[in-house]
This record gives sequence, C-alpha cells and structure tokens, in this order.
Amino acid sequence: MTGILDSFGRSINYLRISVTDRCNLRCIYCMPPEGVPQMPHGEILSYEEIRIIVQAAAELGINKIRLTGGEPLVRADLPKLIKMLSRIGGIQELSLTTNGTLLKNYALELRQAGLSRINLSLDTLKPDRFRYITRLGRLKDVLEGISAAKKAGFDPIKINAVVMQGINDDEILDFARMTCEEGCHVRFIELMPFKGMAEFVPSVEVRQRISLLGKLEPCPSITGNGPARYYRLAGAKGTIGFISPLTELPFCSRCNRIRLTPDGRLRPCLLGEDEIDLKMPLRNNASTEELRRLILKAVASKPEHHHLEGGNARPVKRKMSQIGG
Ligand code: SAM
Ligand code: SF4
Repeated sequence: MTGILDSFGRSINYLRISVTDRCNLRCIYCMPPEGVPQMPHGEILSYEEIRIIVQAAAELGINKIRLTGGEPLVRADLPKLIKMLSRIGGIQELSLTTNGTLLKNYALELRQAGLSRINLSLDTLKPDRFRYITRLGRLKDVLEGISAAKKAGFDPIKINAVVMQGINDDEILDFARMTCEEGCHVRFIELMPFKGMAEFVPSVEVRQRISLLGKLEPCPSITGNGPARYYRLAGAKGTIGFISPLTELPFCSRCNRIRLTPDGRLRPCLLGEDEIDLKMPLRNNASTEELRRLILKAVASKPEHHHLEGGNARPVKRKMSQIGG
C-alpha cells in the first residue's frame, strides 16, 4: 500500500495544492460578490517552495497531486510548475481542478508539461444561469476550454457539478446524459454550507432523479479513489459519481488526502481549522527531514470525521477559494 497511514488506518496518498487564492469568478457558494481579501504576493509559496514540499511528500508515499485554487490558471506560468512537479520521482498522477474559463489558452501547454488529468467545475449548461452562479463568467469560454482540452488529448474530461436546490437541480438529467452522449465523467457534489446561499440536494435524491434515464450500476473498480461513489448508466462510456459530505456517513472513512494552502499551510481536513505551517520552516532553511516530520504530523492529526452532518453550517476561518475545495 502506498501513502501514509493516519491514526484511523486511512492511507493518505493524495496532496491537493492550492496554488493561488485569486479567482476570476465569484461563484455564489464560494465567494462574496466583492471577492475575499487577497493574500500579499510574498505570503504565497513560490513554485520552487511547492516543489520542495512535494518532493518531501513524495518521499513519504504521496503519489497523487492535484493543483487547485482559487483558479489555478490565473497564476502566471502554471505549466512551469507542472513541469517541475512531473519530474519528481514517485508522483504517478498530476491533475488540475479548474473553472475552465482560461483553459482554451493553456490546454495544450498543460498537456505538454506533463499534466495527466483535468477536472472541470461546471454547474450549469445554460449561459444566463452560468453568469448568475459565477457572477462574472461566460459559459462559452468554458465550452471552448473543454473542446481545447479534448483536442490536447485530455480524455475523458471530468466535470464536477455542485447541485443547488431551485438553482440548477433541473439540469441533473442533462449532466447525466453527457456520460452517455459525450462519454464525460460527471460527479454531483453536495453543496457544503459555507455561505448559506442555497439549499443542498441530497445525493440520494439526485440518484433517484437520474434513475429516470435507466438503472445506475455501481462501478466498484473506481471506488477507493477518494470520497466519491461511482455508477454507470447502461451503455454509457462515462461514469456518474456522487460526493456526499453531508448525507453519507461515514463519509470521511475513505478520505485519502491532505491540503496545502497558497500560503504554505498544511490542512489535515478541509472542514477543520487545524493547520501546520510549512512556509516559515521552509523560509528558515528547514531540512527535508524536518519537512517530512511536519507532513507526518499533519497526517497524524487528521480528525476521524468532519462535523457537517445534517446540513449544519459551521464557521471556518478561510473561504473555499483560500483552501482549494
Ligand atoms: N476554481 C477552481 C474550480 O472552481 O474548479 C478550483 C477551486 S474550487 C474552490 C474547487 C471546487 O470546490 C469546485 O469544484 C467548486 O465547485 C467546489 N466548491 C466551492 N465551494 C463549494 C461549496 N460550498 N460546496 C461544495 N463545493 C464547493
Ligand atoms: Fe473561483 Fe472555483 Fe470558487 Fe468559483 S468555485 S469562485 S471558480 S475558486
């Protein structure tokens, strides 16, 4: 088994890195309309600092890296970071979560730099609604980004949709059909109550609605790859996943990840407040051994589970865009 065993027997092999707190959108569930105060540039880890942390994590058994944000593609020269990380021994998968708005400019360069996979966040297929949800974006840019990514060889494209009652839940079947017609993988995510802007839709209800299209067969081969549960409609090339932090218990028993914030703090849990600072030690010339010790400390302090059950909002010091989702 790869990874680092935590106190509850989970194997942690996945590091999600938020490379920036900046974003070109203001999604209603993620940020206030005016955005959030930006971290000073000097507080944000340099690419070389990220590389050193990933090297230390890889030596411990982390073999999957995902770059996220904010919007990772607003950070200058992202392909350069991808190239640097792709050369680190032991990293088997290097992926990106993006809102897709800038993808058409970068898809080919990202592929050539060594990016393995792209997850695209897309909550609606309707232009006006896209503008309402993201406040700033144009659906057209994302669709062009998807085409560019396909052309560059990213296949399949994975789409993550946050389902919000009365806002986009009437599009569940449209997204599900994309797994048949376009072979996309689609994952439906339960809205986490960071802002209380909309009501979440329980995954069980999303599944029931999709069953109008046919029977959903479980795909056990891709479970064990994080917190999603996967299914397939008969004959579909793509899969349908459900990420159910609010209604699936014990959701956290399959958690395999830790997170690194743009300002260099390791977060053992997305929804917990604990953080372990790596930036200060790094900037004080900590040895790789010291970094490895801090990473092990973060893994050892992963809580058994979060406390969002029942849809209870919980205050957190950082916004999603400052952690990486
Ligand atoms: N900007 C990139 C994007 O949107 O893909 C990466 C960062 S974003 C914070 C990562 C993921 O977090 C997105 O898929 C987004 O939909 C999800 N997210 C943000 N706020 C959320 C919330 N309150 N509940 C569920 N998912 C959320
Ligand atoms: Fe930006 Fe992603 Fe948050 Fe939307 S979900 S505001 S695209 S960071």
